[in-house]
Amino acid sequence: MTSKLGVAIVGAGIGGLSAALALGARGIDVTVFEEAEAPREAGAGISIPPNAARLLKRTRLRDAIENITTRSQGLTLRRSQGEPVSRPGAPTPQSYQILRIELLDMLLSVTERKVRFGHRCIAVDETFTGARLTFANGTFCDADVVIGADGIHSIVQQAIGLTARPTSEGIIAYRGLVRSEKLPWSTELRGLNVWMGDGCSFICFPVSQGKLINIVAFVPTPRDMEETWFAPGDVGTLAGKYKGWDAPVCNLIAALDQTFCWGIYDRPPFPYWSKGPVTLLGDAAHPMVPHFGQGAGQAIEDGFALAILLEHAGRDEIPERLQAYQKLRLERASRVQDASRLAGQFYRSWSDDPSGQADRMRDWMSAAEWIFPYDAETAALGLL
Ligand SMILES: Cc1cc2nc3c(=O)[nH]c(=O)nc-3n(C[C@H](O)[C@H](O)[C@H](O)COP(=O)(O)OP(=O)(O)OC[C@H]3O[C@@H](n4cnc5c(N)ncnc54)[C@H](O)[C@@H]3O)c2cc1C
Repeated sequence: MTSKLGVAIVGAGIGGLSAALALGARGIDVTVFEEAEAPREAGAGISIPPNAARLLKRTRLRDAIENITTRSQGLTLRRSQGEPVSRPGAPTPQSYQILRIELLDMLLSVTERKVRFGHRCIAVDETFTGARLTFANGTFCDADVVIGADGIHSIVQQAIGLTARPTSEGIIAYRGLVRSEKLPWSTELRGLNVWMGDGCSFICFPVSQGKLINIVAFVPTPRDMEETWFAPGDVGTLAGKYKGWDAPVCNLIAALDQTFCWGIYDRPPFPYWSKGPVTLLGDAAHPMVPHFGQGAGQAIEDGFALAILLEHAGRDEIPERLQAYQKLRLERASRVQDASRLAGQFYRSWSDDPSGQADRMRDWMSAAEWIFPYDAETAALGLL
């Protein structure tokens, strides 16, 4: 009898932990190595889109998702002064809104025994039987398969010969959380709410069963900003950018105790993700601008597809299975990267370039029609 496949994942973010959940559920022996000493996440909300929620709800997390998340009541688009923007025939996304740390805790509740914190990977080398990970703490791990789920500054990506080429979008994302008890009317904000105009957009949605409102404000900038969840921003500067906008936007900004800034960078798709027994998933494979709210969604799809393709695989079949994974996922994730870029252009160009608005809205809505219904497990099964 052959022993179980041994899979090592670098990175215990949303992508790495979702992959650990999916692989573990299919009987694959998986260990996740995370550089942080303990779980860490920014105080920020995230929307789990329907294409990813569908997969998580097939696991042991089904009840947790229903109980902990705030189920979205759809998407409302408005102009900067509050006039509604109609979307004839638009599908209502069944997304789930949650604090990032709540999502991470939920994933850790079913994967924790597989996670080794305090392990910063510093090298990945192919061996005769698989690959070896070396860690900054002096330890190493040999595995049949290595999955790089180590985010935008991935070391695994570099180890397989890829170099990311980021280009600034000239946009800062200000983000923050407001306690809804400060603004009693905010309990009416049930779904995803977007205001657009003057090169800016403003998004808010409730999380933590409506106790908090997550806001993200996209503002043009001539400066290069760091890509980090932890760079402090100035609430007064943010308020100045939205002066004269619809009252809920101004009131939400005024209610912020603090705000943080993330510089938005775009990157072209990589030509490949897999090399021998090593592959990538999540932001390490397909970093994308956040305007379609699909980065984590695509990371979750990756892990579930990979689990189907590795279940029952013999050791000698691994490179071939990882190539199949790349073929399936690279094309879809690249299309989603494009759609995310176009969504940002649609939101920000609302008033300054009315000429192409109908076309941009059509492209944006038609992307929702192929992104949301997709089932990554069914697609992967179709390859076997
Ligand atoms: C403002 C903003 C809003 C967003 N909103 C949404 C949304 O609503 N919906 C959505 O689907 N997506 C959204 N995204 C995108 C989403 O946040 C990312 O796509 C997602 O977090 C990627 O997950 P990941 O696991 O691939 O990477 P990460 O979350 O970056 O996790 C990588 C992990 O690897 C660890 N690591 C890194 N290097 C090493 C190493 N050398 N050794 C060991 N461990 C290492 C890190 O510590 C980290 O824990 C948003 C992004 C931004 C910027």
